[in-house]
This record gives sequence, C-alpha cells and structure tokens, in this order.
Amino acid sequence: KAKSMGGGVTQFFNQGLQHAFNRQLRLENELRLAIQHKDLVIYLQPQFEQRGSNTECIGFEALLRWQHKQLGTVSPAEFIPVAELTGQMPALHSLVLEQSVAALQRLQTRSEYQRCTVAVNVSASQFKQSNFLQELEQLLSNSPYAKNLELELTENILVDDIEGTAELMDVLNNQGLQFSLDDFGTGYSSLSYLKRLPLRQLKIDQSFVRDLLNDAHDAAIVRTIIALAKSLGLEVLAEGVETDEQRQKLLTLGCKRYQGYLLGRPQPLEYWLNQ
Ligand code: C2E
Ligand code: MG
Ligand code: MG
Ligand code: MG
Repeated sequence: KAKSMGGGVTQFFNQGLQHAFNRQLRLENELRLAIQHKDLVIYLQPQFEQRGSNTECIGFEALLRWQHKQLGTVSPAEFIPVAELTGQMPALHSLVLEQSVAALQRLQTRSEYQRCTVAVNVSASQFKQSNFLQELEQLLSNSPYAKNLELELTENILVDDIEGTAELMDVLNNQGLQFSLDDFGTGYSSLSYLKRLPLRQLKIDQSFVRDLLNDAHDAAIVRTIIALAKSLGLEVLAEGVETDEQRQKLLTLGCKRYQGYLLGRPQPLEYWLNQ
C-alpha cells in the first residue's frame, strides 16, 4: 500500500539521485582530460584596502573554474572533492600555480597592479606533500614573480602536526611567500598556535559577513576576529562583501581590507588587464 502511494515520490527522488550520480561519475571521468586540455582556468577576484578615502587594489585571489563544453562552468565546490577522491589534487595545484605565476607576470604590465599579490588556495591534503613543495621552490627559483604569490591555508591544516606545518611555512616564508588563514572562524584551531605561525593575514569567513548588520552574534564574532588579528599583529580581510553597508560596518569595526561581489567578482585575467 505504501508503495502505491509513494511510488511517484520515490521515483522522482530516485531520478534526482540518479541524475546527481551520473553527473558525479561524468565529472570523475572527465576531470583528468580537462586538466590535460587546460579546460580548468583560474579566475581572479580583486582584494581591496581602504587607505583614507582611496580604495586600492592590493591583490587577487585565484579561484578555479572548469569550463565544461556541455555542462558550462562547474564550480570548484563540486570538482575539488572529485579531484581529492581521484588523486588529482597535485595536477590541479600545478595548474593553478603555473597560471598564477603567469598572471603575476602579466599584471606587471599595468602600473596599478604592479604591487599586487596573487593568492592561491592550498588544500590541507597537499600542503605537506613533497612534490607540492618542490614545485613551489622550483617556481621561486625560476621566476622573479613567484615571491608575490600568497598561499591561503585553512584552519584544518593546523589540526595535526602543528610543528611540522610551522616549519614548512617558515621555510617558504623565508623565501618570500606570504600566508593567509582562509575561512577563519569556521574551523577548529587553537588560538595559541596562531602566534607561532608565520601568518600575514586572517580572512574573515563570508558566513559572518553575510548577516553582519542584522545578527548580533555575527557582529560579535567579526569584532573578535578583528581584535585578535590586531593583537597578533596580523592583517585582516573580510570575504563575501556584497553591500556598501557591510563595507561601511567593517570599516567602522577596523577592518580595512575586503573582497566580494560589491567591488569585483572573480573574472578571467584578460578582463582585469582590459579594464
Ligand atoms: P574560498 O577560498 O573561501 O573562496 C571564496 C569563495 O567565495 C569563492 O567561491 C568566491 O567566488 C566566493 N565569493 C567571493 N565573493 C563573494 C561574495 O561577495 N558573495 C558570495 N556569496 N560569494 C563570494 P568559489 O570560487 O566557488 O570557490 C569555492 C571554494 O573552492 C574556495 O573557497 C576554495 O576553498 C575552493 N577553491 C577554489 N579554487 C581553488 C583552488 O585552486 N585550489 C583549492 N585547493 N581550492 C580552491
Ligand atoms: Mg580562499
Ligand atoms: Mg574563504
Ligand atoms: Mg570557502
């Protein structure tokens, strides 16, 4: 009886699952070729700093996009888990590093971007892999632009072997690389460890910025992160700034760096060069 009543719903549900499953399978099968064919490209989202009444572009974050012939643009939220599962993160990271250093070189041709950094997201599973580090060191010795790379790590990289992580960060930091802690506030990190790491900046997660004006808890968290950054001598940048009200509020709270749709969406390098 239940079957006859719910059959339509079950079938609908199964079709939805089937569809999701097929898509996942397809992404798994096609990712390797997409990497080889350079169908994955970085988009750059600008990061700004308020200096007096001037808003200056201080850098860009490299965000991967898969430009799929049939499926259109596939989000990294969808294909990075696939890459993790199928052992393709090293290939993805190479591609991102290579494109980011090339972008840094091209950005030099525009005076307003000459001092800009390019920030690359590094997944926790890759950071301590020897091939990733070798590749970074090779880039640093081969290209004068590579020292303007910044690495964005998330708190989960700090969960185990903090000493090992700190040592590696020191090695790279001594060669000129800067580090930001991404999505700060959403992970799990022991605050006392923060001061042992060669960090330049905390990035306030966009989930706290979204309701900053209406949610007193979010506002309190943002205030606390800003105070923490100040007391540790770190820069602080807010992610996901979509409205001028959010921007004004952040400035009032003492956060002068921000990134978000309000001032710039992620776009291909050419877009920024032709602005
Ligand atoms: P993330 O590093 O925290 O990047 C910020 C995400 O927020 C990006 O999503 C960006 O497009 C989006 N965003 C920027 N401004 C706004 C805004 O004003 N409002 C809203 N609602 N969203 C905004 P995206 O590009 O889909 O990337 C998602 C995540 O995928 C990234 O989060 C990062 O963790 C990961 N990712 C992206 N590219 C790479 C990569 O090259 N390597 C690795 N390992 N991870 C990557
Ligand atoms: Mg990031
Ligand atoms: Mg983030
Ligand atoms: Mg994120």
